[in-house]
Amino acid sequence: MAQAPVTDTLEPVQPRRWLAFRGAELLLTDAGTLPVGDALTALGGLPLRTQSLGMPADAGTGAGLPCQAAELPADAAPPPGASFTHLKRLNDQLPDGLRRLAARALELIEWDRAHQFCGACGAATMQPGDAKVKRCTNPACGREHYPRVSPVVIVAVERGDEILLGRSHHFAPGFYSTLAGFVDAGESAEEAIHREIAEEVALRVRNIRYLASQPWPFPHSLMLGYQADYDGGDIVCAPDEIEHADFFHVDALPASLPGPTTIAHWLLRDFCMRHGRPWPPRRGG
Ligand SMILES: [Zn+2]
Repeated sequence: MAQAPVTDTLEPVQPRRWLAFRGAELLLTDAGTLPVGDALTALGGLPLRTQSLGMPADAGTGAGLPCQAAELPADAAPPPGASFTHLKRLNDQLPDGLRRLAARALELIEWDRAHQFCGACGAATMQPGDAKVKRCTNPACGREHYPRVSPVVIVAVERGDEILLGRSHHFAPGFYSTLAGFVDAGESAEEAIHREIAEEVALRVRNIRYLASQPWPFPHSLMLGYQADYDGGDIVCAPDEIEHADFFHVDALPASLPGPTTIAHWLLRDFCMRHGRPWPPRRGG
């Protein structure tokens, strides 16, 4: 559905720091900074939608200017001196604060786009000021819709000094990672781990430990990182999900592994360090 640019929520006189997206591509200046200014000068055009991000103190963005998330049209051209890069490709390059803010910006844009109408009754929604809630305008309904977060479990299954890694059909050649899957309705994270590992590679696990979490805004996942111990079974890959999976010895990990800002990387690093191995792992060739 074609959509007119949103301009009435912007105050064009006040410059902002923009987290502007074309799809999941973030607009950055050639200096690697967020564009600053009013929408027209900073973005080269008017956004389809915007969401306030306040004035984050720890955003790696400099102080003193409000930050604003924006969605640009799919065919938007970058203004002079700026370019679009997919947020997944930027993940290892952005400072921590800016990476978190970009994730929040992208998830809020998706939420805004998907909740223009009430999912319960179909009436239009309204957003009161900068509050991150979409309220149904039908008085008989009045339901409130908050940004959605979808939990995903990602788990390192360990068997002594070996770790289970697998690859999907869409991974780059030679790339391996820990296994992951969405938490199902009515399921705990632990139950999701047992089910996913059984479904994907037909193994049983025990002794599940939580390590860390991470937002993954494609479009609104929350990655929950766990470790678990192998408890039995032989690997049988689900053919539609897993191309290959195996236990890799701590001294013989695949050459291509997830980047340093991902949970899978933290799980692998923790595994290597607990076994007294250097990180990043030495390549034996
Ligand atoms: Zn409603």
